[in-house]
Amino acid sequence: MTPPSAVWHPFTQHGLEEPIPLVARAEGAILHTADGSRIIDAISSWWVTTHGHCHPRIMAAIARQAQQLGQIIFAGWTHQPAEELARRLVEIAPRPLDYVFYSDSGSTSVEVALKMALGFWANRGSPRHRIIVMQHSYHGDTFGGMSVGERGVFNRAYQALLFDVTTIPFPREGAEQATLDALEQACAAGDAAVFIVEPLVLGAGGMLVYPPQVLAQMHAICARHGVLFIADEVMTGWGRTGTLFACEQAGVVPDIMCLSKGLTGGAVPLAVTLASPLLYEAHYSQDRAKQFFHSSSYTANPIGCAAALANLDVWRDEPVMERIGLLAERQAEGLAMLAATPGLTSPRQCGTIIAVDFEVCDTGYLAGIAPRLMAFFAERGVLLRPLGNTVYVMPPYCISSEDLAAVHGVIAEAAGVFAA
Ligand SMILES: *Cc1c(COP(=O)(O)O)cnc(C)c1O
Repeated sequence: MTPPSAVWHPFTQHGLEEPIPLVARAEGAILHTADGSRIIDAISSWWVTTHGHCHPRIMAAIARQAQQLGQIIFAGWTHQPAEELARRLVEIAPRPLDYVFYSDSGSTSVEVALKMALGFWANRGSPRHRIIVMQHSYHGDTFGGMSVGERGVFNRAYQALLFDVTTIPFPREGAEQATLDALEQACAAGDAAVFIVEPLVLGAGGMLVYPPQVLAQMHAICARHGVLFIADEVMTGWGRTGTLFACEQAGVVPDIMCLSKGLTGGAVPLAVTLASPLLYEAHYSQDRAKQFFHSSSYTANPIGCAAALANLDVWRDEPVMERIGLLAERQAEGLAMLAATPGLTSPRQCGTIIAVDFEVCDTGYLAGIAPRLMAFFAERGVLLRPLGNTVYVMPPYCISSEDLAAVHGVIAEAAGVFAA
């Protein structure tokens, strides 16, 4: 039984009084609830946990840093973990993303990216201010993030206050040219400032996948028109799509790149917005009025930076790429089985992520099927959180073959129960 709680949970309708399990501890891909259940975390605790829960190396780094320096003002002051992390991020990111601006969540990294891009044009004395976005995108729940994301039930109450953007269609298979044409047209308009996009996979929009070639073509169009290009790799970064960053598969170097979620291995909150010299130089001046006006209280929190450094050590010292390759193979096998299961459609994969749609009459985010599916999976010891009638699997890279097979199995079982 759930005890009475003072907590107001995110994306939760408390009026439905659905059970909210109490998690006591976690290791690898497994959560242990207070009442003794073992749950397979098949969505990496909302896409953050990459190497597994409580990775010893990351947790030890956090403990060490907590003894040294827990927090420090970052405007006009600095510290070693932030300096070292910035250097190492620049080394592994596509070149030349040479500057690192710290913040504390994916949403804030997007706000920072948008402000950098608009500040770039403002500091040049240009009137360009229009932001181009892709249909079905998700970039966070702050006002900027909502404005550049898909409009829907999530943000209906705020719609009147969201700023105006130009939306190009998602590049559905066979209709890629319509996307490119729309982007070309939007970029040609004199006020186009920046295009923001999730590379290769639109996550919250339903795990919609498009090919690297389209990403490369979109980037080329923006470059041709001098429109800035933001890659929101908050979800796709850190190996999810099979490469460290999704942009690599298209040979694309964005002007700005947002990273969070797996930046600390999913252990503590931290985000970065990486910027090319173009952006930095547009704010570099003897004139204080041209500086970048953004900060969070916890900008570059030392404990977060120490966790991120340990994450980079894990990437350097452990066979993470091999794990990702194996996981992608096992996911492909599971997907083949699900694709052959009656009631499941649109099987798709990008790297370690797979998704299928349940054939039901009632689709969309509020589709009644999503919470019923979630409860069905939870009863069978699997944490999956469908997006409407889309069920996806995005596990930590350390998940065992047995646990992954069990996840694929409960999805197939659910198809027999729920699919129309
Ligand atoms: C999750 C996500 C965000 C928002 O990140 P938060 O840390 O939840 O604020 C932004 N963009 C993308 C692509 C995401 O998947």
